[in-house]
Amino acid sequence: MKNLHNALLLKQLYQLKQLGYKYTDVTPYQEEKIDLLLPDTLKSLQKQAMTCHLCDLSKSRKKVVFGEGSPHADILIIGEGPGATEDSSGKPFVGRSGELLSKMLENVLGLSRADVYITNIVKCRPPNNRVPTPTEAHTCQPYLLKQIELIAPKLILTLGATAYHYLTGDDTGITKVRGTVHTYKKATLIPTYHPSYLLRNPSAKKEVFEDLLKVKELMKQW
Ligand code: SF4
Repeated sequence: MKNLHNALLLKQLYQLKQLGYKYTDVTPYQEEKIDLLLPDTLKSLQKQAMTCHLCDLSKSRKKVVFGEGSPHADILIIGEGPGATEDSSGKPFVGRSGELLSKMLENVLGLSRADVYITNIVKCRPPNNRVPTPTEAHTCQPYLLKQIELIAPKLILTLGATAYHYLTGDDTGITKVRGTVHTYKKATLIPTYHPSYLLRNPSAKKEVFEDLLKVKELMKQW
């Protein structure tokens, strides 16, 4: 729970800064006074996230987009953050990118959305679809880490540079790293392009196809 503790401490320091403090001897946030344990079921974790105001994205979001799919999915898909359609519906990947993602899952892996679990680095929409800031991503990370712990996927597919970077801390460019196979905790991790990139650059679909074929090969070993 170190991440959540750090996030809460960081939030408190930002609030003090906004109030004009440069140095403070105000007693910082006390871990023992607040229950830092995140719930141990996806349902309860989602309930907690739905009322989260830990970062500034809570001010502009319509709905928290926690994630959806099988709670025991072998494959966890992680994108960057909700877009406008997701923000209105509360569901991840439901716009044009989502349609493309569903098609790829079905056509290459023979899986429906209900067979996998889909979520994002941040659960609330960044205004104008900008990339989440490091503070936002870091503040939201305890939810993602708990999702990974509870779902215990065999494989994590990160979509786009932001998801890969914020999850692993590695800032290698996505064109270089896509399709490579990594280990993340107990799971295999494969980064690939984000479907929204494919909508703008359809020629990159063949590379994602190759990456998904790697996933398919790994699935044969399960
Ligand atoms: S993005 Fe994450 S940390 Fe920020 S308010 Fe939403 S749920 Fe909370």
